[in-house]
Amino acid sequence: MSIDNLISDLLVAIGEDRDREGLLETPARVRKAYLNELFIGYSQDPADCFKTFDSDTYDQMVLLKDIEFCSCCEHHMLPFFGKAHIAYIPDKKIIGISKLARLLEVFSRRLQIQERIGEQVTSALMEYLQPIGAACIIEAAHLCMRMRGVGKQNSVMVTSSLKGNFLQKSGSGYAAREELMRLIK
Ligand SMILES: [Zn+2]
Repeated sequence: MSIDNLISDLLVAIGEDRDREGLLETPARVRKAYLNELFIGYSQDPADCFKTFDSDTYDQMVLLKDIEFCSCCEHHMLPFFGKAHIAYIPDKKIIGISKLARLLEVFSRRLQIQERIGEQVTSALMEYLQPIGAACIIEAAHLCMRMRGVGKQNSVMVTSSLKGNFLQKSGSGYAAREELMRLIK
């Protein structure tokens, strides 16, 4: 079953004339957009982001903020997009800062819900780096809310996945979380 044929049938099902000129190349374009961009995450392995470096001395929080991203919601296959902030407190291992953005791409370029992207990012950080704590805060606008007449045109959804000492209710983890929230304001 090729994507091209499926999209061609879909065009008919929604009431289009698949033979009109503007749509002739559409099935092939959609296939390329799906496989090379929107859903390329299915063919990527998060493990490839984790070429780690040893660091005995580094124990400050590492934060990459305002990482722009796009994803597609699994409920409507419509885009949601915004920015993510990813932080971790290293124990012994660190990775190149750009790899945090790569990691976000691996998970966001699939059918997703916003909460799961944050959860998968922090889980991968905990698994591969064994940091003291990991956090992923995401702010995104969902076209399935904006385009479907739900009447929430300007709403932005915020989700926060925290792991390790970022969850502490007092002490150093609490202080780290407060610092993180201040830094991403
Ligand atoms: Zn949706």
